[in-house]
Formats: sequence, structure tokens, C-alpha cells
Amino acid sequence: MITGRTVVAGVAGNPVAHSLSPLIHNAWLAKAGVDGVYVAFSPPADGFRRFAEGLRGGAVRGLNVTVPFKEDAFALADRLSPRAKAAGAVNLLVFEADGTIAGDNTDGEGLLGALARQAGFDPTSGPAVILGAGGAARGAATTLAAAGSPEVRIVNRTLARAEAIAGLADGVAFPLDKVAAALDGAAVVINATTAGLSGQAALDVPLGRAPDHAVVMDMVYKPLVTPFLQQARDRGLRTVDGLEMLIRQAAPSFEAFFGRPPPQDVDVRGLALAALEG
Ligand code: NAP
Repeated sequence: MITGRTVVAGVAGNPVAHSLSPLIHNAWLAKAGVDGVYVAFSPPADGFRRFAEGLRGGAVRGLNVTVPFKEDAFALADRLSPRAKAAGAVNLLVFEADGTIAGDNTDGEGLLGALARQAGFDPTSGPAVILGAGGAARGAATTLAAAGSPEVRIVNRTLARAEAIAGLADGVAFPLDKVAAALDGAAVVINATTAGLSGQAALDVPLGRAPDHAVVMDMVYKPLVTPFLQQARDRGLRTVDGLEMLIRQAAPSFEAFFGRPPPQDVDVRGLALAALEG
């Protein structure tokens, strides 16, 4: 029920109608009996700053920020958490009553939480290979480096972008045609590219070159088992899906908006899976 005290939070993206975040947060709100609501906003692609500036003062308590606005949100925030600074991107904005805007990034927490939950993965256990060099890859690289990964290897079609991230994470850059060499001795292999989306061909990654103990993760969660994850399963490797990362980045966001952790006893994964299948 919406009342005079309802706390409003939401997600901003473009496009955003496909986002599972409203489903996840509203299921938590209903179960916890919190007087809050979580909605989706779709500012124009060049209009994020204008939109978010209008929220100063806290009419909306906070926003999750998704493609293509994470760098805009980073530039807008008056204060940044250390992990947002390291990632160079913001996926969580909180609008304080004094008119200031705080920026944070919970994607790394989501990544590590998903790897731990679905594969018992310890980042210190061996080299990490990240495919891609966009915002998600940068966040993953800086998170894994901070969590004690002994070596972060960035593989990307455009080598210069991989080199830029390698510089930030004290890692090593590889061009896409050297991906087999990057897989040597890898403890985890993470797809953070958009290859394979919108009808393009999926990345051709020779997972046969990865060790038998390697964990394979895809940040893409539609479909839940991507061709990349299926290839890893066929090879007998443990896999981690992007939906688990999405749910785990949402939990600290919920706490920032509504002042309490989400309730444990809601099957948000089941709800999200049903929505994905529908
Ligand atoms: P981005 O900034 O657009 O980066 C895309 C990356 O994919 C670039 O490195 C690009 O290479 C590479 N790429 C695109 N098409 C390719 C192709 N045909 N062959 C080889 N490489 C290709 O995207 P992003 O924001 O980092 O997001 C990456 C993915 O992660 C998205 O699918 C996003 O939805 C997902 N994600 C999921 C979560 C979650 O919670 N599950 C969180 C964050 C992101 P170039 O540099 O050469 O162009």
C-alpha cells in the first residue's frame, strides 16, 4: 500500500523495462512489511544528469543505475565510496536530505557473492581471466585484485582497453586471439562482454585450455545458461550465472535505500527465473 510516508527508490537505465530489479526489491519490501516502493525510470540517453539533479534533496531516496548511465552517475556523485572510485562507475546513488548525492558500486560485492555461493570460489586461489574491457570488466578486475587475486588477466578485442584496465588492477592484458594463453592455469574465467547478445555470434573461447578446477561465470543472465556456460558445463567445469550476481548486488542497495537488509526468506531467484522464462 502506498501511504504518505512511502519511501521511493528505483532503477535508472535506458532501456529499463526488462530490468528484474523492481521485481526483486518489491518482493523484499512486501515480505519485510517496509513502507517503500521501487520503480523503473528511463531518462533519455543524453539526459541522465538533468534527471538525477532533479532528485537532489531526497524526494527519491536512491537509485540503482544501469546501462548506459553508470559513468554519468560516477561523474554526478558528490562523494564516492572507495570501491566506486576503483571501479570508475556507480551503480548506486543515494540522495541525502542535505542535497548531496553519494555514489557507491555494489557490482563487485555481487560478483564475489555469486562466485562464493554457486562455486565456493576463493579469489586468492589462482589467476582470474576476465573477457571484455567495458565498465563491468573494470569493476570485476578491480574487485578481484582488491580481494587478493594473484593475477588478473584481461582479454579484449580492443587491446588498448584491456591494457587500461590491466594498469588499474596491476594485471596483464591479452588480445582476443591470445585467449588460449590467458586460460593457462586460470582459477576463474568471467565473461564480461556483450558478444553473443542481439543475435551476434558468441565468443569463441577454447575452454579446453582451462584447468579442470576452473570456475566459469557469465555476467549475462538471459538466457540463464548462456552458450558460454553450456560450453563450460559440457567440459565438466563449475559454473556461476549472472542472475546470482544481479541478486547479490541488489541486497546492499536495498539496505542503503530502506535502512535494513532484505529478508532472507523470499525466493527472489525463483521469481526472477519465472519472469525470465515468461
Ligand atoms: P560494455 O561497456 O558495452 O563493454 C562491452 C565489452 O564487450 C567490450 O569489452 C567489447 O569489446 C566487448 N564486445 C562486444 N561485442 C563483442 C564481440 N562481438 N566480440 C568480442 N568482444 C565484444 O558493457 P558492460 O557495461 O561492461 O557490460 C558487459 C555485460 O555485463 C553486459 O551484458 C551487462 O548486461 C552485463 N552485466 C551484468 C551484471 C549482473 O549483475 N549480472 C552487472 C553488470 C553488467 P571492445 O572493447 O573491443 O568493444
